[in-house]
Amino acid sequence: MGNLTQAFTASSYARSVLLTRGGRNERVNIASPALSAELIDILSTAVDHVLAPTRLAVLCDMDGTLLDTEATWLDTVRATFAAVGITASAELVASLEGATTEQASARIVAELSGTPVDHETVAAQLEAQSLAAMEGNIRWCPGAEELLRSLDAAGVPLVLVTSSSRRWVEAAARHVDFSLFMHTISADDVTHTKPDPEPYLRAAALLGRAPEECVVLEDSEVGLRAALAAGCTSVLVRADGASWGAHAHELVPGLRGTDAAWVRAVAERHARPLTP
Ligand SMILES: [Mg+2]
Repeated sequence: MGNLTQAFTASSYARSVLLTRGGRNERVNIASPALSAELIDILSTAVDHVLAPTRLAVLCDMDGTLLDTEATWLDTVRATFAAVGITASAELVASLEGATTEQASARIVAELSGTPVDHETVAAQLEAQSLAAMEGNIRWCPGAEELLRSLDAAGVPLVLVTSSSRRWVEAAARHVDFSLFMHTISADDVTHTKPDPEPYLRAAALLGRAPEECVVLEDSEVGLRAALAAGCTSVLVRADGASWGAHAHELVPGLRGTDAAWVRAVAERHARPLTP
């Protein structure tokens, strides 16, 4: 009953509790300070868990999820392969979606086995070329800005979590308004970038939230793996139906038409007991 007491205490403002019955989550309204007949009935039957009210936070990937930049990045990767004499296959280029410049340059150097080439030089070239290509080409994905404004208006804290460099984030911020984010985690702020869970664990910790209280919006496989490894509720925002997308808690083709109520419903559908 410890969980139940905690749920009622915490829900004095929410006037409802979230229950798991038969593996499905459902919210039950409490009509008065006294237990409602419905709640008593539910509690007298099999209840698997009483979940604490969701203290929702949203952690957002940047490239390809909020900003329409992924195609330009992959064009730059393809051009960088070409510049060192490699005709990269579509699969090879696609595998670097969501990658950092470090990860992409490491892959380019690996493809040049036997050829003396400096990894750091390739990484610097790749970042400079991608920054140049993005200049004037940075814009929100449809619905992204509206979703962020809706979440902010609903009091949901937001963190930007990206594998891009701090320099790249600052370049993007010259074209779009990131002021709604309470924090930004870039590649320069972590020891290990996605698919390691560190960026999302750090973002949750900055907000004082458990990972299970955070909904992540991601578009790439490496990002999804990071979010799932961190223990966050993970939404894949992607239109092409990639096979690995089945691992996400939810899949949406884009953010157009989404709002804070939609994110809260996603969080409640997948709510689970917090990690002790
Ligand atoms: Mg991305």
